[in-house]
Amino acid sequence: MSTDVKRTRKRAGKPDNFQAVDTFLLEQLPIPQALRNHLTFSLGKSDSWATSRDWYQTAAFTVRDHLMSRWVNTRDAYREANTKRVYYLSLEFLIGRMLANAALNLGIAPELSTGLQEIGQQMEGVVEMEPDAALGNGGLGRLAACFVDSMATMDIPATGYGIRYDYGMFRQTIEEGQQVENPDNWLRYQNIWEIQRPEHTCEVKFYGRVVQVHTDHGTEHHWIETESVVAMPYDVPVPGYGTQTVNNLRLWSAKAAKEFDLLHFNQGNYEKSVEGRHGAETISQVLYPNDASESGKELRLKQQYFFVSASIQDILHRFTNYNSDWDTLPDKAAIQLNDTHPAIAVAEMMYQLIDHYHLAWDRAWKLVTQIFAYTNHTLMPEALESWSVELFATLLPRHLEIIYEINHRFLQMVNQHFPGDCDLLRRVSIIDETHGRRVRMAHLAVIGSHTVNGVAALHSELLKTTLFADFNRIFPGKFTNVTNGITPRRWLNQANPLLTELLTQHIGGGFQKDLSLIKHSEPLADNAAFRQAFRDVKAANKQRLAYKILQKTGVVINPQAMFDVQIKRIHEYKRQLLNVLHVITLYNRIRSGQATLHTPRVVIFAGKAAPGYWLAKQIIRLINDVAAIINNDPVVGDQLKVVFYPNYEVSAAEILFPGADLSEQISTAGTEASGTGNMKMALNGALTIGTLDGANVEIKEEVGDENIFIFGLTTAEVTKLKTGGYNPWDYYHGNAELKQVIDMIGSGFFSVGDPARYQAIVDTLLQKGDQYLLLADYADYVATQEKVAALYRDEEAWSRMAILNMARMAKFSSDRTIGEYASRIWKVSPFKA
Ligand SMILES: *Cc1c(COP(=O)(O)O)cnc(C)c1O
Repeated sequence: MSTDVKRTRKRAGKPDNFQAVDTFLLEQLPIPQALRNHLTFSLGKSDSWATSRDWYQTAAFTVRDHLMSRWVNTRDAYREANTKRVYYLSLEFLIGRMLANAALNLGIAPELSTGLQEIGQQMEGVVEMEPDAALGNGGLGRLAACFVDSMATMDIPATGYGIRYDYGMFRQTIEEGQQVENPDNWLRYQNIWEIQRPEHTCEVKFYGRVVQVHTDHGTEHHWIETESVVAMPYDVPVPGYGTQTVNNLRLWSAKAAKEFDLLHFNQGNYEKSVEGRHGAETISQVLYPNDASESGKELRLKQQYFFVSASIQDILHRFTNYNSDWDTLPDKAAIQLNDTHPAIAVAEMMYQLIDHYHLAWDRAWKLVTQIFAYTNHTLMPEALESWSVELFATLLPRHLEIIYEINHRFLQMVNQHFPGDCDLLRRVSIIDETHGRRVRMAHLAVIGSHTVNGVAALHSELLKTTLFADFNRIFPGKFTNVTNGITPRRWLNQANPLLTELLTQHIGGGFQKDLSLIKHSEPLADNAAFRQAFRDVKAANKQRLAYKILQKTGVVINPQAMFDVQIKRIHEYKRQLLNVLHVITLYNRIRSGQATLHTPRVVIFAGKAAPGYWLAKQIIRLINDVAAIINNDPVVGDQLKVVFYPNYEVSAAEILFPGADLSEQISTAGTEASGTGNMKMALNGALTIGTLDGANVEIKEEVGDENIFIFGLTTAEVTKLKTGGYNPWDYYHGNAELKQVIDMIGSGFFSVGDPARYQAIVDTLLQKGDQYLLLADYADYVATQEKVAALYRDEEAWSRMAILNMARMAKFSSDRTIGEYASRIWKVSPFKA
């Protein structure tokens, strides 16, 4: 059947005047009227008994009305034009709240705000009733969320594919100083931003065995006796800013293949008849709360295969609906793998093309390697995913065969180019034979992709010289860099309306869509009136943050003090502990009467620790114990306060970033692939104290050496020190202040009555070799903090520098990032619906 015939048939049943019956009356209602309508007709309430949540839902329905026609039109236009699309596969999308962002991107935020006022509601309060969509851990998931925003804004035909977890990232509370994990039941109330699409359901198979069947066309592989799970898609609209484009985020939910087992039911065993459901539906039940470490659990591999298989089926189904020549597939689809979590997609596409669509191996492989690209997010060995061959053989026997075949052909090719180098073959093989036969997902991703990118210049260089050095010899030119970015819509406009307003007054609007325009604010650094206005904005944002901190922690802070902020996942490599060492150093200086030199500071921490990462949880406890001592010491007063802001998530980040004066980006050089918190801070007018790591290097290039506080060892120095035999004891004995700080932690100064509480922390620093070189970087860190404090006392110099930081952040818009992916990797162009 020709594609034209198919398309005509698809549209049949639509009256010719369908478009003219304009749908779109709902959008034309004045917003107060629309709100009232929804309160009555969608919620069945009157305002006399409407709750705050009802008002949120009312507002969400109203904004959704403005999305729908654009969403429908975008989809129709892509189909009509049969345009090339990007598919962004990610196990995480850390989107946060949608209401204010959708209103902003649609350009109706002011009307919504006044509309709510007219009916006696405040926008700020209404927005707060929305639970965060916390379908991610941290940076990797937030990057995916920034990317879908940028792709829609730039009119890139794109779909995000992920999992609709019933429970997202756990909600963190602090009890007696310790992290407690609470379930995130974010779907308890109706989720207005999703639409179930049962007609796009697909079946995902597991287990079973493979048999070979000889036919006229050759040998076929049949994967039989499998167990099935149904993948049910939920679509979430992704509105672009200042455009008609509304892209789609398709999140899969697992459903039992058979609602219930009738045999059991008929035998009167009702409970047994629904049992099968639970097994299947656990697949999409919960997000794994691990960041930068792999968990190796069977359920995790099931999650990965579940969403990958459904997504690849969906992609190929869409292709075959509108195209007939397989060789055009790379002209219609580009697939980006967000880390190795979806890397099984390489084998899955081979499986579907060969076993289901009957393509020959070579033809299928050629297509695969023209479609896939892979983004690496980490060099750390504990984060590199591998699965035992036994687990693979049980769960996905056909895919293991396919991976063996991919590997066999790849190793043959390598052997031709580097004859006799058995060590090389062993190192690059997808199967790791040295650790009990494991499937290395990063190798599968590299071999199956045409392009592999790191996420900042330094990280991409390190990929080529360390982790993927062998692959870089085998595939010269496959490796590249695309530096991460953040969306200015959420992280400037939405999070910081006061700064947005100030900038708009001085340089006009437009920087939301084209962040390069923000450079026009550079000359304002020398304008005293602007500096004052800029400080007023910062003061208001700090006031807002101080109020939130009081609400959440009961700690009263002085908004005049420097807000020194480190907010990110708690991880040893990010070195929150180094920050704590500095805090205790300041405390000791105050106690010993050196406080006259001191700039008042509020040191703010936020971040979650993986529930199984005991040492990270100890660090949280230490922060809280240190805070309790310092905050209640009358000698200290307002000079120093320590705050642990609970439950770091996107909506918390939106308050924290604009209130920061100082941005702590202090990972050991060579460990943080990029970081994006560093970009959000600088864009909101904070100065950075940081190491030459990740994107800090490029932030320094942009803002200038004189406008950033860089300290510590470089990556090369870290390597050299480690290979030369690093001894933390030398630093401990060589620095009296450092020794005092560590001794206080180790002797129970902050854990009165339980002196052994922090023995493990002290041991990692002294007995276990201080893997992340905190002691080596301590002295330079403390000295650099003194320079920071001195500059903060000169408010004109400080605000001048902060303005320059903001003005020079254009590079770190995720629009720039997506532009690079689109032209260099995906080869897609904008398409205006
Ligand atoms: C930006 C962001 C991150 C990433 O922060 P890094 O400092 O780059 O690790 C993590 N979580 C949330 C909620 C964020 O907004």
